[in-house]
Parts: sequence; structure tokens; C-alpha cells
Amino acid sequence: MTDRDPRDPHSLMVHAGAGRDPDRPLSVPIVQASTFALPSTARGAALSTANAPTRLYTRWGNPTTRALEDALAELEGGEAAIAFASGMAAMSTAVIASVAAGDHVLCSRHIYGGVIQLVRDLLPRFGVASDVVDVRDPKALAPHIRSNTRLLLIESPANPTVDVVDIEALAATARAHGVRTLVDNTWATPWNQRPLDSGADGVVHSATKALGGHSDVIAGAVIGARGWIEDVWRAHKVLGGCISPHDAWLVMRGIKTLGVRQARACNTALELARWLETHPAVKRVHYPGLSGHRGHAVAARQMRTFGSMLAFEVASRAAAAAVAEGVGLITHAVSLGGVESLICHPASTTHAPLDPAELAAAGIAPGLLRMSVGLEGIDDLVDDLDRALAAG
Ligand code: PLP
Repeated sequence: MTDRDPRDPHSLMVHAGAGRDPDRPLSVPIVQASTFALPSTARGAALSTANAPTRLYTRWGNPTTRALEDALAELEGGEAAIAFASGMAAMSTAVIASVAAGDHVLCSRHIYGGVIQLVRDLLPRFGVASDVVDVRDPKALAPHIRSNTRLLLIESPANPTVDVVDIEALAATARAHGVRTLVDNTWATPWNQRPLDSGADGVVHSATKALGGHSDVIAGAVIGARGWIEDVWRAHKVLGGCISPHDAWLVMRGIKTLGVRQARACNTALELARWLETHPAVKRVHYPGLSGHRGHAVAARQMRTFGSMLAFEVASRAAAAAVAEGVGLITHAVSLGGVESLICHPASTTHAPLDPAELAAAGIAPGLLRMSVGLEGIDDLVDDLDRALAAG
């Protein structure tokens, strides 16, 4: 966006990436093409050596995809962005582009499980060491930094216990040691926080979730400074996780309503968390909007609202199964960020590979349930959970 830059994030979300052409279509055209005609060999040579051209071959770049990338850069306040075929394609490509054999990566323990598998299981095979550490207290970070540490990976709030880390404090410590900080901003969304404004170097998204918003697309994104994004693009070009133009269009359409969807869902999540706290069958509620949550003060400072994700504990694994299987309006499914509310049992889905000791170490009680709050009415959600909790 050039002239008339909006100050209200709702305006930004509606218009991000739209450009200013006086005769532009209001919906970005879907250029569903793998390749583009070349008028001359000279043009072919120029495009083949250019950075992220949009009219050579869609794995290099595509006009529809570029519109989404421009929108994402605007939303996160970054210089440039790359869209990917999934959140994990985005994360793995960003990490691979940022490290070399002999380097060391630090990863928050409170982060999406796929990221832990990437750094703990895959990177060491290529000579990159890693440690998965608890950085909920930002002072815990510095002792883990080594002379060869290049990257810090964090997420806030994070799966599944909605843990919060202090992005500004962690990014400042990392920067003082020459370490780049990447933040997975999937759960918070740019509606709630913009990690680049807090000193982070890069943002990663699973656009599958709230950016897309309708549970109909798998997509990802990386946003950051132009020079680093060029490095990520060079890795992306050979790793090949490019998004389809149609999926890029779906994410763009989702972004237009991200603000209104988040404003409503986050408000409902707070009301629901307060109600769950009063329910006799609920042992504990994890939601940063509650004053008893460990990350409440940091979340209140770093987020616009407290997010649309919450978790709560019931008495046992069997009771949790009864709730997950007993809901009617709410859907028992993995994933999050869609218009419909979802519930899942992390111990038997997202964290199923962990044994009981590992689950306990990660703070995942057998009776823990995770909820992605959607756009339904609060009274209907309360009724549905109340009925399911009675069955549990
Ligand atoms: N980051 C977070 C926070 C997630 O929840 C997920 C998926 O659940 C991912 C990344 C990976 O995204 P994708 O499934 O689009 O590859």
C-alpha cells in the first residue's frame, strides 16, 4: 500500500496486497499456470537469473502468489514475504536457509511439534546441532547460547497449553549474541501481535489456520527483511514447497476478514475460558486472558487480545475422550483457526507419539483438551460443552 496507508488494522486486512492500479480487479486474478511464454531468449536468461520472478515458472514465483506475499509483508510489517505449500514447508525452508553444518539452533520447548522434530531429528543429520529449551523465563535463554548458535525458534502462544513467551526480551537477548529469532505467529495472528515490531528477525505462519480461516487450504508463509527473504527464496526454489495459485487466492480471501474473525473469536474465547473456570468438571483452564495464567502479564503487554485458542483439563483421559466425542456443534478435529470451533485431545492426536513421561514433561495432562474457538454464538458453545462435560 502506498498512499492513504490505513492506521486501523481492520482496514489493513481488507486492503493488504490490493495495490493501487486505478482499474484493478477487486479480487486478485488466479493465474493458474505453471509456466509463462518467453518473448526472447534474452528475456528467459534475465528471468532465470532474477530473484523471485513472477513470470517464468510458478515454483520461482507467480502473480497471484506475489499478491499474497505482498499482503503478508504488509500485515506483519516486514519488507518481503514468501508463500509456501504448508506451514512446515515455510518453517523447514526458513531454517535450512539460515544455518550451515557446524551451526547450533535453539528451539523453545513450547512450539509446534513438527518444528521440534525438524530441529531435534532432522537437522543433526546435516551437521546442525540443536537444543530444545524452556524459555518461558527469558533469562533462561542466554546460558543456552553457544558461540555457534545462529537461530532461535519460538512461538507464542503455543501448542497445546497456550504458553506465552516474551518475544521482545528473547529477541533482544538473541540479537545481542548475533542469533536470529524466528517466531511462529500462527496462533496469535498479525491481528494480535507483530513479532517483527518486537525485534524478531522473521515470522513464520501456517496459513492453513486463521489466515486462511475456513479449513479449506494448506499453506504457509515466511516474512522478514528483504536480504534474508532472498536467502529463503533461493532455498525455496530448490526445496520446492511452492503454494498453488488457487490456494494463494484462498488465503488472500481469508485475510480480508481476519480482523473481524479474530476480534469475535478472541472475545468468545475469553468468555468461554471464564465460564470453563467455574465448571465443576473442569480441573484447570489454560488461557492467557485469565489472570492466573503464567503468561498473563506478558500476553497483556504483547498481544491485542488473548487469542482464540484455549485448553482445559478434565479428570482423566477417558473423561476427555467422552467430551471430545460428546460435543455436537463443536467438531472433534485437529487444526485450528477456522470459522467453526474445534476440539481435540492432544495426548491422542497432536502429541500421540509422546510416551506418558514425555507428556508429563510437556505439561500435557491425560485429560487435557484443546479448543480452537470459532464464530458460533457463546451461548451455543456453552450449551454444547456443558452437555459434553456432563457426559464425561
Ligand atoms: N505452526 C503451528 C503453530 C501449527 O499449529 C501448525 C500445524 O498445526 C504448523 C506450524 C504447521 O503447519 P502446516 O500444517 O500448515 O504445515
